[in-house]
Amino acid sequence: MSHAVLDYPFSEPPPPATLQQVAPGIHWLRMPLPVALDHINLWLVEDEIDGRQGWTVIDTGIGNDATRALWEEIFAGYFDGHPLLRVICTHMHPDHAGLAGWLCERWDAPLWMSAAEYLTAFIASHGAGMNDGASMVEHFRAHGLPPADHETIRHRGGFYGRMTAPLPARYRRVMAGEAIRLGGHDWRVIVGVGHSPEHVSLYCAGLDVLIAGDMLLPRISANVMVAAHEPESNPLADYLASLRGFLSLPAGVRVLPSHGLPFGNAHGRVHDLLDHHAERLDETRAACAARAEGITATELVPVLFRRQLDMHQMTFALGEALAHLHWLWFAGELTRVQADGVWRFKAVAG
Ligand SMILES: [Zn+2]
Repeated sequence: MSHAVLDYPFSEPPPPATLQQVAPGIHWLRMPLPVALDHINLWLVEDEIDGRQGWTVIDTGIGNDATRALWEEIFAGYFDGHPLLRVICTHMHPDHAGLAGWLCERWDAPLWMSAAEYLTAFIASHGAGMNDGASMVEHFRAHGLPPADHETIRHRGGFYGRMTAPLPARYRRVMAGEAIRLGGHDWRVIVGVGHSPEHVSLYCAGLDVLIAGDMLLPRISANVMVAAHEPESNPLADYLASLRGFLSLPAGVRVLPSHGLPFGNAHGRVHDLLDHHAERLDETRAACAARAEGITATELVPVLFRRQLDMHQMTFALGEALAHLHWLWFAGELTRVQADGVWRFKAVAG
């Protein structure tokens, strides 16, 4: 696999509770995360809404006390008496939307999100059974996870609500293709599917800047998984189609990603990610062809992920292995059969 050379205009991220300007009026803020992926990038934009000067934030950090404390430092150190006017979330994941409810309440600010992200997050953050332990166990059991691991999975149920402040009961819906006025510029909404249900990236032609969220990351590939509440989905097809959409942006666009450093050469990165998944699909094809009895998603995990995984990483890896099996299954290259309640995927003969 060839790797595109990415240029990084900033060699270091800003220290905690510090802003770094990355484009006129756009400031980069890092927040820590208590997982292996140890940070998220947020973007604060100098803004004006209805004649009021203040800030719009894109994404919020995860819902814990450490992040709230860092936010208070930012308010005190940088806001200069101006309010937070608006909270935009690229998508529902806890590192992105975890403090949206808290920020909106603290500043009486509106929440802007796409409908599928808001509604899914609203349901999950208010404790309904979208990611409860029982349905997660059932999903992973049906794809071969051994009984010894079921209890750990069961305890992961409801994790969304534990990392996310409850969302406000009203929001401003963001739609694909619309123009949003932000920091004195028009930004076009680009919706991506596959990493999350209706992920919003924002492109500003005037600045030639893309706020990419998780759709376009410089060093890692966004998690694409078949989730327990959508067990028959083909998220990898959606994700690859969404990725190709970024090729219509100018080649010189500056990308502001949610993880890693801002970078140029977006087209090269899109091609790398497309190549990465094409290779994963080839490995999946080969693994299926090598086993007459077919393969479960659990058996595919060590083929695609050749390192030790904890149970948190295992759930993502299993979901991602299944996403590759489903892509081939939807394409007619695999069939699936269920034995003892476990799905096996087999290569179609010929
Ligand atoms: Zn995400």
